[in-house]
Amino acid sequence: MSSLYHSTRNMSKSVTSKQAILAGLAADGGLYVSDALTNKNADDPIDLTAICHEDYHGIARTILSRLLSDYSQDEIEHCIEAAYGPHFDTSAITPLVPLGNDWLLELWHGPTCAFKDVALQMLPRLMAVARKDAETADNVMIVCATSGDTGKAALEGFANVEGTGVTVFYPAGGVSDIQHLQMVTQRGENVSVCGINGNFDDAQTQVKRIFSDPMLKERLADEKIVLSSANSINVGRLVPQVVYYFSAYAQLVAAGSINIGDEVEYCVPTGNFGDVLAGYYAKLLGLPVARLIVASNANDVLTEFISTGTYDRRRPFKRTISPSMDILVSSNLERLLYYLSDGDCSYVSQLMARLSTEGSYSVSDDLLKRLKKTFACGKADDDQTRETIRNVWETDHMLLDTHTAVAAHVLSQFQRTPGIARVCLSTANPYKFSADVLKALGSDVSGLDGFGCMDMLHEKTGVPVPPQLFELRDLPKRHLDLCKRDEMSDFVEKSAKRIFS
Ligand SMILES: *Cc1c(COP(=O)(O)O)cnc(C)c1O
Repeated sequence: MSSLYHSTRNMSKSVTSKQAILAGLAADGGLYVSDALTNKNADDPIDLTAICHEDYHGIARTILSRLLSDYSQDEIEHCIEAAYGPHFDTSAITPLVPLGNDWLLELWHGPTCAFKDVALQMLPRLMAVARKDAETADNVMIVCATSGDTGKAALEGFANVEGTGVTVFYPAGGVSDIQHLQMVTQRGENVSVCGINGNFDDAQTQVKRIFSDPMLKERLADEKIVLSSANSINVGRLVPQVVYYFSAYAQLVAAGSINIGDEVEYCVPTGNFGDVLAGYYAKLLGLPVARLIVASNANDVLTEFISTGTYDRRRPFKRTISPSMDILVSSNLERLLYYLSDGDCSYVSQLMARLSTEGSYSVSDDLLKRLKKTFACGKADDDQTRETIRNVWETDHMLLDTHTAVAAHVLSQFQRTPGIARVCLSTANPYKFSADVLKALGSDVSGLDGFGCMDMLHEKTGVPVPPQLFELRDLPKRHLDLCKRDEMSDFVEKSAKRIFS
């Protein structure tokens, strides 16, 4: 049986997972969801014991087959082999390491040193397979807004993948030195990178508009080009992230920290709500998740939502030292609302309409109660984040990046429940944010550029610098484009024509 997908805002039109992955966003602006996630599990739960004896590839096979059931076993096997190979620096892919009495799930061992690789090494492969199946072998132009990490991971994932192109928009001045260099030095004939005058939310809003522009769609269709998304609204990004929640669990069992069936808590540094939503999917699939703790930085819109039931984006956008979490509109929350309302599309549509016209919405008391059954939340401002980096370095000799430190701070504010292991998701290598990590350790970085900071952080801590970050200093800058928000659509069209002509 195929696990069919439909929009969070409308049940009536079903698509296969291949179609959902090719399209990215549903035509009505909703996100693709599958009811198989909730219905199938009652009679056919994931076999936890079997999972605990599998390696990463094996777990990925089980989860992907379940959620992308129109892909054949061969196709899934091929995608997994290609996505999780030697370009990850450990065969564990997402190793679990001790952090005091808790655990750290390191998700940044891929080619761009951020957790986005786990999904973005897989998505292009899933898309390439889906493209082969589609009746028309149109070229696919990926358009992607990034707060820093997605952009590079998407560029790296899609570079030179046949029949695809990728255009990335980042907030100029809103990403770290190293993140910026990672993007502007990207190799590949099918990539475009452009800075915009605005923040991530501006970029994402404009990208959503580009996707729903019928005229543009038509003009591109004439050239046999379709647009798609690599943001975490794409099903093909979300599903691979479910895998590491299971992998963490299997590693806890292997370490003797828990027995199969014991409950585990996960604390997740959150921006667009993709990562933590994957944890919820894992729970729906039967993973014994006691609680998911949503960790926010000073852009605490989610902390407020989970505490009060009111989502209100009408607040100043704050630039923090954890820029990949500087987000006021967490797109994937829409999927959670769908599942928590038992699939009430018209209710979800109403809430999303209110968000777009009024800038806020409140959920029913019943939905808030269901939300709080699984989700807890907390926040860390920049000072608390720095303090956590320093404390964890001094106490445990572990070097956390600024995003992971937000989660580590939030986790430390919660009482440990006896018998429940706690896993903090570590989303980036600290060298991606060398300057802020150094400042947290008390160093003066004035006058140092990104590489100066990288070298100094290495001297100070002895923690190895990932080679792919070290080598950036020798690479030529290839992408220097900048544009205004209202020029983004033109930029996409020009890139598409250049790449596919
Ligand atoms: C993207 C990102 C996050 C936030 O993940 P979401 O899925 O958007 O919630 C956290 N940390 C880092 C380092 C990231 O790149």
